[in-house]
Amino acid sequence: MKELKFPVEIFPTKKKVLQIKEGVYWVKLLLPSMISHVNAYILDDEDGISIIDTGLSCVSCKESWTHILTHDFKNKSIKRIIITHHHPDHIGLLGWFKKKFNTEIWTSRSSWLTGRMLTLDKKNEVSTELLNFWLSAGMPSEIIEKKRLEKPFNFSDYVDKIPLGYRRMVEEEQLLIDNKKWFVKLCNGHAPEQIFLFCPDLKIIISGDQILPGISPNLSVYPTEPLANPLAEYLEDCEKLLNIEDLGYLVLPGHNLPFYGFNTRVEQLINHHQSALKRIQKYIDKTPKSAYDIFPALFKRKIKNYELTLALGESVAHLNYLFKMGILKKDVDKKGVNLFVK
Ligand SMILES: [Zn+2]
Ligand SMILES: [Zn+2]
Repeated sequence: MKELKFPVEIFPTKKKVLQIKEGVYWVKLLLPSMISHVNAYILDDEDGISIIDTGLSCVSCKESWTHILTHDFKNKSIKRIIITHHHPDHIGLLGWFKKKFNTEIWTSRSSWLTGRMLTLDKKNEVSTELLNFWLSAGMPSEIIEKKRLEKPFNFSDYVDKIPLGYRRMVEEEQLLIDNKKWFVKLCNGHAPEQIFLFCPDLKIIISGDQILPGISPNLSVYPTEPLANPLAEYLEDCEKLLNIEDLGYLVLPGHNLPFYGFNTRVEQLINHHQSALKRIQKYIDKTPKSAYDIFPALFKRKIKNYELTLALGESVAHLNYLFKMGILKKDVDKKGVNLFVK
């Protein structure tokens, strides 16, 4: 299959679920943020439901869940909440679910640890580490000065406190839900140890944000680990996913519409980053450049203000990849900016 096929062309409306297959339901949760929505899924079983991802901690997501659980599922018990990864739009209401329904929490160790660590990290001002990270990536000083005075991003503003204790999910384990086997893979790059599920019996994949249609998931370096190489991890895990036997899966992604054409999409995403890497190498040539400098080559469009920090993280990710491959050399200038050259 060379093109993706979208079997459903409309999203479920607010507070509604859409049945994808028997026992598999899709929920679209509206978000009051730059990202308009996140998808959650429900797998129904005789003795309870499993919910995959929760949405952000916000009124709109809580209203949707309350309505869906009482109206569509008649308060059926929740066997477990599976969290694909620690990003606020996926883990935000986990604490709310735990408190209200005392549900089991199932996720990878890295998702749980990272989510819980970040909710406990409350800052009153933008941290020096973050300002230094932006500086090293070449963000102009006048922008840094403006950002220094802004309200810092606190994870806990969007994510309820994550309770102590969870059930760890590991690579290759199998879950039995409604007598169907679901296989677990852990994927890196977009987030550490992101849960990816596939069910050959139903021919359904739940891909989290690892494989999305229409957009490429953000692959960023953060000040917590400035030398990280998430792009290498992402590409490696995309290759791993290509080993899943192609059964004509319907892919249920974390954002946008469900689609057919899993292998095609994985290959498109690999090619997308490989060609970005080629453009960057060409652009850098003999003049040393920072992560900020290579925006035109990487994004081929103007980056808006609100996208700047994510774009910068993604730009660092591409340069770290080329540096670790030995294709680029790195130098630090007098101001502390990392400059890359061939
Ligand atoms: Zn994400
Ligand atoms: Zn997401």
